Amino acid sequence: MSNPVLSSEPTSVLHSVLHEVFGYNQFRGQQEAIVDHVSGGGDALVLMPTGGGKSLCYQIPAIARHTRGAGVAIVVSPLIALMHDQVGALEEAGVHAAFLNSTLTSQEAAHVERELMSGRLTLLYAAPERVTTPRFLAQLESLHERGLFSLVAIDEAHCVSQWGHDFRADYLGLNVLHERFPGVPRIALTATADEHTRLDIIERLQLQTARVFISSFDRTNIRYAIVEKTTPREQLLRFIVQEHEGDAGIVYCQSRKKVEETADWLCSQGVNALPYHAGLDQRLRQRHQDRFLREDGLVMVATIAFGMGIDKPDVRFVAHLDLPKNIEGYYQETGRAGRDGQNADAWMVYGLADVVNQRRMIDESPANDEFKRVQRGKLDALLAMAEAHDCRRARLLAYFGQESAPCHSSTQNSCDNCQTPPAVWDATEAARKVLSCIYRFSQRHQSFGAGHLIDVLRGKITDKVTQYHHEALSTWNIGSDLSEQQWRGVLRQLVALGHVVAEGDYNTLALTDSARGVLKGDVQLLFRQASAAPARASRKSKPTGVGKTRHAPADLDTFAQERFGALRQWRSEVAKEHGLPAYLIFNDATLTEMARRVPASLIELTQISGVGTKKLEAYGLAILRVLERQ
Ligand code: ADP
Ligand code: ZN
Repeated sequence: MSNPVLSSEPTSVLHSVLHEVFGYNQFRGQQEAIVDHVSGGGDALVLMPTGGGKSLCYQIPAIARHTRGAGVAIVVSPLIALMHDQVGALEEAGVHAAFLNSTLTSQEAAHVERELMSGRLTLLYAAPERVTTPRFLAQLESLHERGLFSLVAIDEAHCVSQWGHDFRADYLGLNVLHERFPGVPRIALTATADEHTRLDIIERLQLQTARVFISSFDRTNIRYAIVEKTTPREQLLRFIVQEHEGDAGIVYCQSRKKVEETADWLCSQGVNALPYHAGLDQRLRQRHQDRFLREDGLVMVATIAFGMGIDKPDVRFVAHLDLPKNIEGYYQETGRAGRDGQNADAWMVYGLADVVNQRRMIDESPANDEFKRVQRGKLDALLAMAEAHDCRRARLLAYFGQESAPCHSSTQNSCDNCQTPPAVWDATEAARKVLSCIYRFSQRHQSFGAGHLIDVLRGKITDKVTQYHHEALSTWNIGSDLSEQQWRGVLRQLVALGHVVAEGDYNTLALTDSARGVLKGDVQLLFRQASAAPARASRKSKPTGVGKTRHAPADLDTFAQERFGALRQWRSEVAKEHGLPAYLIFNDATLTEMARRVPASLIELTQISGVGTKKLEAYGLAILRVLERQ
């Protein structure tokens, strides 16, 4: 017997699942169309940014189809570490779910298999290598014959593409599901936006007839800011203390050493920070990751080894102390902030050394020329965004082929450039001075780094100047009108534009072919003015009486903040008892709404977004008691 053909669910059924199981009042974005299509038996490819709400897109169809007797949905996921939490969250919501992976004992696995074969399970999470084993396929065959194989969901579908960044060979074998069970609807999901990867997914998973749902990639709750690097650690500390005290956040650094130093330093300054990089002992790394997921308000200082599959929803900021490799990396890393839809910050410090390092890493890599050319192009796009004086959000989206208006400067989440448009100046003359000075050095077959160049321009007498008689150069002392920092800014932007390169062990400067046009005065250069101090108004005014670790959303009044703190305390106890991360009990948005609206009865509590029937039963009275005590 083949799978029963199900007619499309009435949308009221899907709504009631959304409301009763998950406690949400409305679908987000394209969720409703997707859920409707898949529940009705259609195939889908879903491209949605991180935090867009992909999980519901397959969970609700799975629940709706299970209710109608269609059996179990298989969810393929590469992230073994996360299955436990996802299943825990579903069970908390009253949905019978399980996972099969290498962390289970054989007894546990046997129990899950019995549940699977009985048709009682609604969702089963499994790793791709498990799904494609003959044993598992035989079990699916048996379910399918009895009409109990309802759906295939392929999460992180970009893993099937070699073009993408997380290729997994096991994903290539997933076609077998389609070949063996052509009638079972499939939904593939990814947050990777570029077209090349999308076409690859369609091709390799044979989704040619699937409906493609592409959401906007604008993360409207994220505020983007890129500031000039002067004293990075102090800048970071100021950012955390002024805007994110007590918040969970991620700080990305390029090297392992810098990760450790930065984490130590933050701790010495009273910030609760942990290091994470591939060089740490596996167990320690795992412990840090678990603590970050489970405890409130930790700052993870990490290399980019940290992040894949970190779906902690309440990460309030992502800070970069070093420049990422390209815009894809920047978008993906910053995208880990604010998955819960609440305000979050993407903040980066950036300076001359970043440009030089990233350029050098490409030049010195063993890759072939074609690959390097592509990498340079990608880096250039990121540098252009870092140096931009217009909307960063619009530039980011434009890179992914999405047109958008600049952010609304009146909203809290507009980018730094929209919020405080940077001063721009005509740097053509200054740039020519820099270039001709480098040219003068080269006429003497010499080359120097940024420090000496700026000394010469500013007419400073140093040992080196005297040694090389540079006070005799025609470019000596032609730039005393600008400060050292301003000259660094000019030089950085010239390197970013590719008119100057830094070479060798000492980062000595040389002109490129494109410098000629600037020297001749053919090109006008409008540069960002170096800002003396970050001109950023804090968006949080902290009410008195709120202690350091009791950080709460800024838009709550003092009493509501106290209630939020009490609810959070209660949540962390429940989470510990259940062995789950706190946000899976209730997320911050739900606690915030409870603290604001102060429901006084179970009926009132059901109106809070995020409180489904099962959780109401399990926790309703306890929540009311916590609120009464406040
Ligand atoms: P993704 O996998 O796309 O990154 P998730 O599925 O983890 O996103 O969802 C992100 C957050 O948004 C979760 O906390 C989820 O509970 C919440 N969410 C999803 N859909 C809705 C909705 N319709 N209403 C309210 N919250 C939602
Ligand atoms: Zn903007």
